[in-house]
Amino acid sequence: MPFAHEEVQLRRGQRTGLPIIVAVHSTRLGAAAGGCRLWSYSDWTHGLSDALKLSEGMTWKCAAAGLSVGGGKTVIAVPEGQVLDPAGRRAALLDAGDVIASLDGRYATGPDAGTGPEDMAVIGERTEHVFCRPEEAGGSGDPSPFTALGVLASLRATCRVLNGSPDLAGRRFAVVGAGHVGERVARMIAEQGGELVVSDIAAAKASLADELGARFLPPREALVSEVDVLVPAALGGVLNRELVPRLRCAAIAGPANNQLAEREVAELLQERSILWAPDYVVNAGGVIHAIARELLGEDLAKATARVESIEQTLQDIFATAQETGTTPSAAADDLARRRVRGSEDPE
Ligand code: NAD
Repeated sequence: MPFAHEEVQLRRGQRTGLPIIVAVHSTRLGAAAGGCRLWSYSDWTHGLSDALKLSEGMTWKCAAAGLSVGGGKTVIAVPEGQVLDPAGRRAALLDAGDVIASLDGRYATGPDAGTGPEDMAVIGERTEHVFCRPEEAGGSGDPSPFTALGVLASLRATCRVLNGSPDLAGRRFAVVGAGHVGERVARMIAEQGGELVVSDIAAAKASLADELGARFLPPREALVSEVDVLVPAALGGVLNRELVPRLRCAAIAGPANNQLAEREVAELLQERSILWAPDYVVNAGGVIHAIARELLGEDLAKATARVESIEQTLQDIFATAQETGTTPSAAADDLARRRVRGSEDPE
């Protein structure tokens, strides 16, 4: 693959000896932002691949969201089988903080898989270039509620295309993955009168389904349940060549990152007339809120309105795809790339 990144730092953590990778894909729209992943890898080079891929994804995500920031990512690659005790975890985060500090503001980090707001406070001991510390530590806190709000805005845009109305009442949804984001989305759908299937590999989440009057199904059944909108809210790569022919939904819109196992799956969905809302547009609410509050100094109301604007962004993407006979995936990519190339003002 061509090397498209502006800068990649690969350092052995001073305290832990762990590989710390900070990839900056682009600062063309502004200093780069992107989460810090603390994850276990059988080989650290897989962590490097993740950092390269995910930092590029952040460039397009921020651009499509209309933010004047670029894309980056940090990966702390923990060897498979090694378990970090609290002291080791803290040391690894401080190691990452040092590498991020050395970039002098060209990149700022935030939570990602394996890290949360408390971890950002630790990184914050080494660098000010960190988002989403707990509110009591001066940050904007957990981004998940705002990611969930963005998903709801996306569901409205999706329902509008399907039914001519953004109303969720009476429509059927399957939320697959009831974690930080999925549980909130399921609650909001239930509040708005949507019919709900809830699914998770954790059987304990059945109690959430009970509470919401939803059906609880194992993931393999929930993914092919007959619903208006499938809401993938767990892991990536869920939409593949084997699953697409079996889907019984009219549309897919959820927060899970990198839902398409391969790019071509977008065309397979289109052939089956299943509307796919590009994941990086749907799940941008958390980063939009953090940037709006911490970088742009906006108040909660303004930042929330920005998150809600995902509804309009997605509507425009769906409309462009329809007008140009392309997929929503291609329309979103095109929008993001045009903004990064500077042919459109992102604000
Ligand atoms: P989470 O870890 O809190 O929740 C994931 C849930 O999915 C867990 O309950 C887990 O048990 C369940 N799960 C795991 N594998 C599953 C499977 N095969 N089938 C069904 N359920 C399964 O994660 P989260 O923060 O809610 O994020 C969910 C997705 O959204 C991830 O892909 C994440 O990258 C993406 N995302 C999250 C945010 C955010 O603000 N948290 C922002 C952008 C994107």
